Amino acid sequence: MALKLFNTLTRSVEEFTPLDPSGKGVGMYCCGPTVYDVAHIGNFRTFVFADLVRRYLEFKGFAVRHVMNITDVEDKIIKRVRESGAPLREYTGQYEAAFLEDLQVLGCLRPHQMPRATEHIGEIIALIEKLIARGFAYKAADGSVYFSIEKYRGSGRQYGQLVKLNFDELRPGERVSNDEYAKESLADFALWKARLPEDGDVFWPSPWGEGRPGWHIECSAMSMKILGPSFDLHIGGEDLIFPHHEDEIAQSEGAGLQPKGERFVKYWLHGAHLMVEGKKMSKSLGNFFTLRDLLAKGFTGREIRYLLLTAHYRETFNFTLEGLQSARVSLMRIDECLTKLRELAGSIGAQQDAPLLSEFSTALDDDLNVSGAWGAIFDWVRDTNRRLADNSMDAAGAAAGLATWEKLDAVFGVGAPSEVEVPAEINDLLEARQAARKAKDFKKADTIRDELKAKGWIIEDTPKGARVKKA
Ligand SMILES: [Zn+2]
Repeated sequence: MALKLFNTLTRSVEEFTPLDPSGKGVGMYCCGPTVYDVAHIGNFRTFVFADLVRRYLEFKGFAVRHVMNITDVEDKIIKRVRESGAPLREYTGQYEAAFLEDLQVLGCLRPHQMPRATEHIGEIIALIEKLIARGFAYKAADGSVYFSIEKYRGSGRQYGQLVKLNFDELRPGERVSNDEYAKESLADFALWKARLPEDGDVFWPSPWGEGRPGWHIECSAMSMKILGPSFDLHIGGEDLIFPHHEDEIAQSEGAGLQPKGERFVKYWLHGAHLMVEGKKMSKSLGNFFTLRDLLAKGFTGREIRYLLLTAHYRETFNFTLEGLQSARVSLMRIDECLTKLRELAGSIGAQQDAPLLSEFSTALDDDLNVSGAWGAIFDWVRDTNRRLADNSMDAAGAAAGLATWEKLDAVFGVGAPSEVEVPAEINDLLEARQAARKAKDFKKADTIRDELKAKGWIIEDTPKGARVKKA
């Protein structure tokens, strides 16, 4: 079955066919973090979504090249650098490191390449020069270089591919120097920003004088450098559709590097917003969570990842602490089933559960219908538990179940935690309790059980003897 995805460019669900003539290689670019602060859970929804796209493409046999940039120079960063007094690299470095750590906690695969904007100033300048040479960019009186929407449209190209824009509002000669602006403020946007006193030490020399790049041109330059002028997938949060992605298209297609008839990007995928506790996240409402805030509340990366992956990427999702509690319960159901399968199977089988795999991929082929895919998984868990309970599953069946789960989890990445290491002290207590039971000293056995419980461990009596698990 072919994978279908919603392409913002055509506003329709389309069959995914990569540009690669062999049909195998896929170039995928996801707009990365602006490293001016610790990313919040809304940001991470997008990165977990991009991770899902990559993993599912790999499941389908594609060879994905996943690129995610690090925006380490733009308006917000400069403001923070000025306030903190730290050098740019030092300031952004700490948030970049925190971001990578968070990404790992959330079980996201490392993108293959993570270019930093500040290390691509040469490519950015070259791209702006090309746009000037082609008549689509100009240096304004303020020393900055702007992209001319009028010239671009005048050449027969379309500005407003991802969103509908009202050009009657566009006043000739009007410019916007901020990286972020609303559709209503449609105007020529900055490619290169002339150095201002408040920029401090953050500037580079250029043919137009000292300054720094605009945010939008960074992504055009880095994505085309690594993936080529025309590539398959561009992913980001829906808040990036305008102006960021629209401007990326104008800059990249304006430079005219694409082969004839090809666009800059074939499929644009956008993840919807995240609400928290029913409201838009905001620090004043107390519903603003970074990943670290949630970990501090005792939730794990895989519980958070699981919850984020239960919602379809195009739906606004209401992320709640209650939802995280249910995520914990759902994962426990999977973990318990897998533990029982492991006990029965002994080893992972070579055979796989073909109907389960097919149900799973049919759901995800349908524009990443995660609910359908989880539905298939939980039906399988229920069925497996029933078969384990009535002893109608043999070791080979259990081994096949485990092999199938490994395949599915390569996509969802919520993994079963590998056997939790039991501290020696806990193991000693467990042994003492077993010895007490053997000696029929049940009072002592119960006391030890309570002691284990107080230390956060629960005893489970299984056919293979007693064992402890984390409470
Ligand atoms: Zn971008």
